[in-house]
Amino acid sequence: MRRPLLERFRQRLSLPAGLSIVSLGEGATPLVRADRLARACGLEEGSVHLKCEGANPTGSFKDRGMTLAISKALSCGAKGVLCASTGNTAASAAAYAARAGLPCAVFLPEGHVALGKLAQALMHGARVIQVAGSFDDALALALRTAKERGWTVVNSSNPDRLEGQKTAAFEIAEELGRAPDHQFMPVGNAGNITAYWRGYRELGGVLPRMMGFQAAGAAPLVLGRVVAKPKTVATAIRIGNPVSREGALRARDESGGAIGKVADAQILSAYRFLAREEGVFCEPSSAAGVAGLISLCRARKQPRGVVVCILTGHGLKDPQTPLTFKFKPQRVKAAGAVRL
Ligand SMILES: *Cc1c(COP(=O)(O)O)cnc(C)c1O
Repeated sequence: MRRPLLERFRQRLSLPAGLSIVSLGEGATPLVRADRLARACGLEEGSVHLKCEGANPTGSFKDRGMTLAISKALSCGAKGVLCASTGNTAASAAAYAARAGLPCAVFLPEGHVALGKLAQALMHGARVIQVAGSFDDALALALRTAKERGWTVVNSSNPDRLEGQKTAAFEIAEELGRAPDHQFMPVGNAGNITAYWRGYRELGGVLPRMMGFQAAGAAPLVLGRVVAKPKTVATAIRIGNPVSREGALRARDESGGAIGKVADAQILSAYRFLAREEGVFCEPSSAAGVAGLISLCRARKQPRGVVVCILTGHGLKDPQTPLTFKFKPQRVKAAGAVRL
C-alpha cells in the first residue's frame, strides 16, 4: 500500500499528535522529461520537466492539501465541510469527505465547471450548490453559509491546504537532487504558488525563480486590480480576486520571478502541444505555465538551467474542450476500406 503523503513528509509538516490520517494515496506524482518541449523552446535536452499532478487520486494537486484539511476536520469533530470551487477543490473535498464519512457541500459557479469535476462531486455524494455568479461570488456565499451552520471551510484560505500542498516542492527537489532554477505554473487563487515557495524556502539551498501565469482575461495580479468579470477557457484559473494575492507577490519578489499573462489561444496551443508531442494530457488551465514558458522563449528570453512546469490537473477532467478543435472522424462501413 502506498504511504500517505502526510506520513512520508511527517518531519517537515506541523501535524497534531495522534492525527488519524484520511488518505487516498496522494502525492508521489511523476516528474517527466519533456525534450520536445525543450527543443521547441530552444533549450537544452533534459533541462525541462513536467510535474504531472493529474496523477493524484482525484486528478489534481488539490488532494495534497485536502488530505490534511479533511483529516483535521474529522479529528476536530466537524459537522461537515464545504468549499467554493472552480471544480477541482470540489472534486477533492467530495472524495476525501466521503472517505472520512463527513457531509460535504460544494459551491460552484454555474456554467463554468468542467464536466468531469462536476461528475466527481456528484458521484462522491456532495451536496452541489450552483451559484449564479463567478467563483468569487460562490466563495462569499460559501463563507457566509459556513459561519451560519458551523461547517468547516476547506478552501485554500484554510491554512492546512497550503501546508499539504508544499509537499510537491519536496518531491521535485528530492527527484532532481535539488530545486529547479525556474518553475513555471498557472496561478488562479494563488495558493499553489504560495505553497511551493514555502516548500522550497523550507528546504533551503537553490531556490527557483517562481514564474506564475494567469489567463489574460483573468489576470488580477498582472493588472494590479480585481477583475470583476474574469473570462477564460481555463476555468480552473477563472479568478478575479485571488485569495492568496500576498503570498503570490511575495513568491514572485523574493524569488526574482515574475507573474505574467497568456492569451487563451496560447494556453490551448500549449495544451495541444503537450498532448501531441509529449503524450501528456493535462487540463487547459494546467497548460498556462507551459504557455508562459513558450512565450518567453519566443521572445528570446530563455530561462537558464533546470526548468520544471507544474501540470496541475488531468486532461480527462474536461472532456469538452478537446471537441472544440477540428475533429473529423473517418466514417466507414464495417466492411469498408480505411484511409490512414
Ligand atoms: C486550483 C487549480 C489551479 C490554480 O491553483 P491556485 O492555487 O488557485 O493558484 C490551476 N490549475 C488547476 C487544474 C487547478 O485545479
